Order: sequence, then structure tokens, then C-alpha cells
Amino acid sequence: MATARKPNPKPDDLLAWYDKHRRRLPWRALRNQTADPYAIWLSEIMLQQTTVAAVKAYFEKFMKRWPTVQDLAASDLDTVLTEWAGLGYYARARNLHACAKMIAEEHDGIFPDTEEALLALPGVGAYTAAAITAIAFGKKAVVLDGNVERVMARLYAVQEPLPKAKVTLKALAAGLTTEHRPGDYAQAVMDLGATVCTPKSPSCVLCPWQEPCTARSQGIAADLPRKTPKKERPTRRGHCFWLTRRDGAILLRRRPEKGLLGGMMEIPSSPWQVEPLDIDAARPHAPGVTGRTKWTPLTGMVSHTLTHFHLELEVHMAKVPDRRAETLGGEHDIVWAHLDDLGNYALPSVMRKVVKHALKVGY
Ligand code: SF4
Repeated sequence: MATARKPNPKPDDLLAWYDKHRRRLPWRALRNQTADPYAIWLSEIMLQQTTVAAVKAYFEKFMKRWPTVQDLAASDLDTVLTEWAGLGYYARARNLHACAKMIAEEHDGIFPDTEEALLALPGVGAYTAAAITAIAFGKKAVVLDGNVERVMARLYAVQEPLPKAKVTLKALAAGLTTEHRPGDYAQAVMDLGATVCTPKSPSCVLCPWQEPCTARSQGIAADLPRKTPKKERPTRRGHCFWLTRRDGAILLRRRPEKGLLGGMMEIPSSPWQVEPLDIDAARPHAPGVTGRTKWTPLTGMVSHTLTHFHLELEVHMAKVPDRRAETLGGEHDIVWAHLDDLGNYALPSVMRKVVKHALKVGY
């Protein structure tokens, strides 16, 4: 009886492919250049849950504004959140700032070079610590992101579904990770997943590991990795209150530091909940003089999908006379902002949609 052939992919074949086909990325050192740990760390934090295409412009903007980790640490959190607005998952921006401060204050502005020490930094998880260790410091570390998981699952035809299969995939990835050029190897396997071994239709004919790849030889590459079906996201609903002053300024309010979109600015809104919340129950969360501000609902709805739920917001508009406007604002969490100045506030994507909706329907 014939025995199944054990795949034997060679890291050197991948490295040779990488030398010819590596992606040019703004945070990636060119050949013979030394990698900048700050740039690697910044890009890796931005890339968590976000695509390379979306990150490039943000990365360049941050590097221009804060060329070193000390510059970023010296900035205030609000400015960082404002520059981050639109990238989503805002806890990352708060952790980014906290981490920069820790590096500046406790590590003399120098990133630690071991996975263990990197893991102690805010916002740095196992993947990011391994990526920085390998790419920035050229030390062997097992990097396992979605791209690497996919490549491993296919090379070895792993049928176990994710996320359970992570342990198996990490062990397989560890078996291939080399002492030789560890930074290049980490980037090579990520590049292979991003450009050749893509989720829907892998380009196996271009792959340096096509010969040893089990999923390719079995014709099941596009079916792997298997995934445990996700639970459906629930829908939450809420109300937003667009309050303007006679000079056209709009009232923004800061969300509480702890919790969803913590510390970001918003068009003041009610709680977002699955249970129905009618306007009467939502009104106490509106700014203005309770009971005396006349709110007019706008037609339509703002829909947005966050990590764990879909959100639908109704928008209501009101004007406040100048003498009452003086009683609002001046507090830390409330500000009057002019329309052409909104870009200077840390408004998350959902609130930018609310602004767009109000300007389209309400004016
Ligand atoms: Fe992915 Fe195809 Fe390469 Fe296998 S041969 S690793 S499925 S691109």
C-alpha cells in the first residue's frame, strides 16, 4: 500500500522567491537597509484588522508628523485619536499612544528586542511581538497572522477548522521558521499569503512551494483553511442629536474614556441597544435644554457595522438660540465645532457617516 507523502517545503525556496517578488511597502527596509523598530511597530499596530492598502496613507501621515517614538509620546492623545480617525478599532490608537509613552519614559526611547519584553507593552500581542522581533531585530520568532495560517493550512492540508486549528498551524509554522534570515522569512511567508496564496483563488502556478503543497495536489486549496461558522451579528439601534448654533457650529460630545469608541468625539447619541428605544426614552441623552429643545427627525437612517454588531442610527436636528448655547460648551467633553473644522476632531467612521447624512438630508 502506498504511504502518503509528507510535504517537505524548503524555506530557501521561499526566500529565493521573496528576493525577486517582495512587496515594496513604506515601512519595509530596502535590501541592505537597517529596519526601524518604530516604523515596524507602528505599521504592525495599524495593520491589525486593517488592509495594507488602507494603512499606507495613515502610516505615512504618522511618520511625517511623529518621525520618532519620542515625538509620538510627546503628543497628546486627542491629536493621535484625531489622526487615527477612519482606521477603526480605536483602542489600538489609545494603546499606541500608551506604548509610545512607555517606550519613551521607561526604555529611553529604545524598543526592547525580545518577544517577552515586547509582550509587556500596551497593544502588543503574540503576533505583533513576533513580527517586531523577527523583522526589526532579525531574531528567530514564529509569526502567525491570517496569511501565514492560510499558507500552513494549505501546505499541510489541515482540515481542522479555525480558530481551533491555530495551535496546529503555529506548530507547523514553527517547524519551517529558520534561524537564517528570520526577518526576511517572516515577511516572505506573509507576502506569499497576501499575493499568491490568496483566500479565494490561490495562484499555485506562481508559488515556490507548489511542488510540496498537499492542498494543491489534492485540488482543495481554495477550500482551506476551514472555519467554524461565525455567529450572526445582532443589530443595535440608537438616536443621534445634531444640535446647531445660529452661526452654524455643531455640538460635539466626547464619549466616556472606558467603553466602545472610548474618548472619541461624537454627534451626541443615546445608548445603542438591541431592545427598541423610542425617541422619548432617548431624549434625556440629548444635549440642549431637556424638554425645551425641539428635535426634528431626519428621513432615513445611518447604518454602520462594528466588530460585534450592526448599528442603525436615527438622526434628529435642532437649533439652539445663542443665549442657551452659552450654557453649553466650555466643559471638557463638549465642544462647538464649525463644519469646515470637523476634520480636526477625532470622529470615528460611524460619526462621519452621521455628519454626511445630516448634511445631505437636513440642509
Ligand atoms: Fe498556496 Fe497554492 Fe502555494 Fe499551496 S501551492 S501554498 S495552495 S499558492
